[in-house]
Amino acid sequence: MTGHTTAKLSALHGTAYQRLRSTRGAQGAALYARSQQDAIGHVVAVCDELGIDCELERVPAFTYAETAKEARTVEEEAEAAREAGLPASYVEETGLPFPVAGAVRVEEQAQFHPRKYLYALLADLERLGGQIFEESRVVGLEEGEPCRLTTEDGRTVTARDVVVATHYPVFDRSLLFARLKPHRELVVAGVIPAEQDPGGMYLTPEGTTRSVRTAPYGEGQRLLIVTGEKFTPGAGRVGERYERLEQWTTRRFPDVRLTHRWAAQDNEPTDGVPFVGALHPRARHAFVAAGFNGWGMAGGVMSGRLLAARITGQKLPWADLYDPVRLQPLKEAPSLLRFQAAAAGHFVGDRLPFVAGGGPASAIAPGEGAVVRSGARQLAVHRDDAGELHALSAGVRTWAASCGSTTPNAPGSARATAPGSGSAARCSRGPPYALWRRSRTSRTRTSRARRIERMGRTEWTTTRTAGVTPHDRHR
Ligand SMILES: Cc1cc2nc3c(=O)[nH]c(=O)nc-3n(C[C@H](O)[C@H](O)[C@H](O)COP(=O)(O)OP(=O)(O)OC[C@H]3O[C@@H](n4cnc5c(N)ncnc54)[C@H](O)[C@@H]3O)c2cc1C
Repeated sequence: MTGHTTAKLSALHGTAYQRLRSTRGAQGAALYARSQQDAIGHVVAVCDELGIDCELERVPAFTYAETAKEARTVEEEAEAAREAGLPASYVEETGLPFPVAGAVRVEEQAQFHPRKYLYALLADLERLGGQIFEESRVVGLEEGEPCRLTTEDGRTVTARDVVVATHYPVFDRSLLFARLKPHRELVVAGVIPAEQDPGGMYLTPEGTTRSVRTAPYGEGQRLLIVTGEKFTPGAGRVGERYERLEQWTTRRFPDVRLTHRWAAQDNEPTDGVPFVGALHPRARHAFVAAGFNGWGMAGGVMSGRLLAARITGQKLPWADLYDPVRLQPLKEAPSLLRFQAAAAGHFVGDRLPFVAGGGPASAIAPGEGAVVRSGARQLAVHRDDAGELHALSAGVRTWAASCGSTTPNAPGSARATAPGSGSAARCSRGPPYALWRRSRTSRTRTSRARRIERMGRTEWTTTRTAGVTPHDRHR
């Protein structure tokens, strides 16, 4: 992905500060601003220290509006960004060659060539004794001391600490798949005369996104890079979308000679804040960095600094803000439900109290189960031996399968599924309730399953499934 980005290094992320102020409070917004500014400062310092030529330029960043209605939003964003500690102001002059209704301007942001920067970092890492293996797809992660990674061709790598920074997390042990929504964007680029360079980095407010920046492109020229037409991957009509983006660009920059176009995608987290920290609630040596929502340049550097600090026993002030283990059920629930309805109960269940048991669901030990309340719903939950929590909605008897499926089974399908053929059975560690129901060989297991179902529907109580060995459950 990083090779296809437009590479603005900015702490101004559209209209993020209004949202952050309302979801994470003034302090959360301020920590977000500080962490992003810190990352930009770090890139500048590294370029300076290592003498990296990556076309780094310090320029202002703008979120601009073309209509009076949007101008109010950006004016509020200017205030929210300023309150968060950014050098932000509301302006009507932006340098763009077309009129704008208003804009937030943040000083001293940056733009660069990300591959040139990364190649220099790689060279430095190797100089310090680091090893880099390309074309080595990791397919397995066994957590422990040390952790063991397996590659596609059967090699094993051991490491004390592992960071899963694979854009979309390839190992998902805390249901991030349910909290990340991919979006795709198109990019067109072309040459303009250097004197037509507007001199900043620009973005329209969310929704009708258009992003503009320029880059060095030989004597007397600049490369104009325009992004937009955000859509859900697979939504189609890509040709039309390119056409709209090209028309938008040529109308506003009539002298542009378009030369390139490409598409790329990023992942939007439910609450707009990336997931950076432990891979799952009990992980000690496995970490994740994902969900940059179109802002992975400063966000990626911020993640590297946050995780490096954590692995070396320090805690940066903004570590909790980005902690993937966070969940604000009330604030995140609507987007969670939108992103992945089936998994919402699954995830929320891990953070809700037992109704009758008196403890948090996170206290359920591997191999144990309980019935918990999720709002008005009741969930039969079970933590498997790998530590993952699985939830069965007691009301609709639908599995929120944890094997990467984003489609819930139809109500009652667990009962109808033949062994080995259903989606539950395809999970390497399938939901035990479904397996119990299919079992005709053990009355104990069947009666346990019935008990859980009965309790899920009518009783508020907890049950323990300890004593059933993994072998029993998966036979
Ligand atoms: C059109 C567009 C424009 C953007 N513009 C900007 C911008 O101006 N500023 C900004 O801040 N952000 C921008 N972004 C977002 C930014 O590009 C991303 O957030 C960022 O590149 C993500 O970086 P990453 O390191 O998470 O992922 P990647 O760069 O995709 O790196 C992930 C790496 O993991 C490797 N990998 C994957 N699976 C495995 C596996 N199983 N085993 C081993 N390796 C694996 C991949 O090969 C890859 O090298 C933009 C995004 C889009 C779509």
